[in-house]
Amino acid sequence: MKSSKNLRIKPEFTTKAKKVYQAAISVENLDDKHGKGLSEEENNIRRFILSQSPILGRIPSMEEIKERFVKLTNEKIQVILKKLDELDAIHLDNNKTIITAAYPFAGYQTAHLIKFKKDKYNNLYSMCAVDALGIGFMLDCDYSINSVCLHCNDEIKIKVKNNEIVYLQPENIVIWFDMEYSCCAATSICKNINFFSSTSHFTEWQQDKSKRKGALLQIQGAFYLGKLFFEKRLKY
Ligand SMILES: [Zn+2]
Repeated sequence: MKSSKNLRIKPEFTTKAKKVYQAAISVENLDDKHGKGLSEEENNIRRFILSQSPILGRIPSMEEIKERFVKLTNEKIQVILKKLDELDAIHLDNNKTIITAAYPFAGYQTAHLIKFKKDKYNNLYSMCAVDALGIGFMLDCDYSINSVCLHCNDEIKIKVKNNEIVYLQPENIVIWFDMEYSCCAATSICKNINFFSSTSHFTEWQQDKSKRKGALLQIQGAFYLGKLFFEKRLKY
């Protein structure tokens, strides 16, 4: 077994990662999600949700958003949240009262637990494997991902330091990136973007399932996608 002492995996724009990225930008507007086309008020709320989530260890509630933006009417806030939901920057529940996803963060327990190496941050869950790999680029902090192989449920552990993977267990982790989009990522592809402990575990898992559109990525490529999708989310 390779010594993992000096492990340093950087993100890599592999051919498969490029294919996934092209498919993603053909159905999603990343600029909107990054806040580029938004009004100042819309973007302030978007940024508040993303920056508060790791501090709270959960996505802020409607009440907390209202308290922070007292100058805005409840109706105005509701309109803004619905717009962010339509852009798929966040995802609201059916009653439009709870933020169930603020990508990369999940408002509920998922398979991917994020543990931060920063005092003021608290653990929370990410929406999918690629979201988990993008968090460090968005927040610029060290953290670890505790997840499981979707096939055998074996533990998967990844540590990220200075935006490089410095620990990877097991070593041959692969990531299935689902590309069967429907209305929004939260209800379609997110739950289908997962870690597998090896290519053979992915193959075994896939055997009795109908063939889906997507790509099987090595960790470097998935890491690069995480970077592309999240490094600019708090820049604007
Ligand atoms: Zn497995």
